[in-house]
Amino acid sequence: MKTYDSVLIIYNARLVDSSIDSPGMVVLQDGKISGVFFGEIKDAKNAMRVASAVLTDMDLKPVYFDAKELTLMPSFVDMHVHFRYPGQTKKEDLNSGMQAAVAGGYGTVVAMPNTVPVVSSAKLARQIMQEAKEKDMLKVFQTVSITKDFEGQDVSEIAGLKASEFPVISEDGREVASAAVMLEAMKAAGKNSITVSCHCEDPTLAEAAKPYRIRALSFMKQYNIPAGKVHVKVPDVPDSVNFEIDGCLTAANQLLALAEDTATERNIEIAKKAACHIHICHCSTAISMDAVRRAKALIKAGKTQTGFDCTVEVTPHHIALAGTDAPYLRALVNPPLRSEEDRSALIEAIKDGTVDLISTDHAPHTLEDKAAGSPGFTGLETAFAVCNTVLVKREGISLKQLSRLMSENPAALLKINAGKILTGYDANLVLVDPEETWTVNPEKFYSKGKSTPLEGKKLTGRVHAAFYNGRQVYSLDKKSK
Ligand SMILES: [Zn+2]
Repeated sequence: MKTYDSVLIIYNARLVDSSIDSPGMVVLQDGKISGVFFGEIKDAKNAMRVASAVLTDMDLKPVYFDAKELTLMPSFVDMHVHFRYPGQTKKEDLNSGMQAAVAGGYGTVVAMPNTVPVVSSAKLARQIMQEAKEKDMLKVFQTVSITKDFEGQDVSEIAGLKASEFPVISEDGREVASAAVMLEAMKAAGKNSITVSCHCEDPTLAEAAKPYRIRALSFMKQYNIPAGKVHVKVPDVPDSVNFEIDGCLTAANQLLALAEDTATERNIEIAKKAACHIHICHCSTAISMDAVRRAKALIKAGKTQTGFDCTVEVTPHHIALAGTDAPYLRALVNPPLRSEEDRSALIEAIKDGTVDLISTDHAPHTLEDKAAGSPGFTGLETAFAVCNTVLVKREGISLKQLSRLMSENPAALLKINAGKILTGYDANLVLVDPEETWTVNPEKFYSKGKSTPLEGKKLTGRVHAAFYNGRQVYSLDKKSK
């Protein structure tokens, strides 16, 4: 990693991480946070005087950044993005995905392996990570698939992986259908202290849901109802058709809820036996969340074997939107947007500490692919604003707690020295305005994925600047707002 012959001093800020909420300033040197100071430090001269205590090279001319009225937080860490690279670069590529991540305030992301080809080898994953490293905008962890080529059989690659390089593996996008294969995979991962991120979805129930989605999509096609754009008013669609579409999608969603709940239970039980750390990704139902809650209670009570651990993530869209708001049904995603009861259960689980972290499941598609029914949408550039709006502004969760969910906890899971404003930690920071309200316009996204159910929504909380490795990598001012 490059280091820079410079010192960056960010002063006149409000510093917030999981345990700090105070005015102050930071000094960044050689890619690390080398000093954190509290109190009102409003001008560069004063900042220089304070910083001099930690400057190692007095010949270097510090760069000063006045963070007036902005909040400095540790960069966000995303355990779940789809960069579609290699092979699907019409949807996204490494560059656009990384640009989107930086604009969203992320300093570390974990990329899923459901690409073309599937990332099934340490060799290919290393190549991708090397390419990402050369772009020098944020840290990318590339996951390797649980089974070779997503074929659900061969798990031999896992034994050769080291946790320092591959802290997480995943089959995201699909489930490992065979419980016996999953057990073998989790045993191998457990041995190497690698976390298995599980996309919990029983494949037979998911298959049963498909005809309903196809029927809904065929109606949408017939009446020219756009699948990617959700706020376009379509005239001349009879109520009976809307009713039919909602009915089909509701039937599909009920099957997909059962698919998630049965698979979550199954995978937790397998992980217990295998003494493996299971990470439940995009948990979206009350029942699945309760399975995680029970597993955590057993761990706390010392009733599970060493090596078993269970963490869980939720996505911004599942905490912000319920599928009962009809138009959003047309923005398909897996798992689907759930009922209001499920959405509330996720918020409750955040409040009671069951939820470990928030991941975007950033899943960009072209508008043509969305119209053809591809599930998922772009999420990196709206994540902080959604979480700030829903959790901090509406639910009264503190910004400190949000920092724990978006930075500290995922960083701890990846075992990286990031996610806190602490001397010696990586100088990956983000400047936000938690009070600024803006309107989501996907045309302005860096991501190639221009589809989001949040299109046209007003959100509160905006990323103004991002710093990676001690150097500024994003500025909202330089983007046409
Ligand atoms: Zn998934």
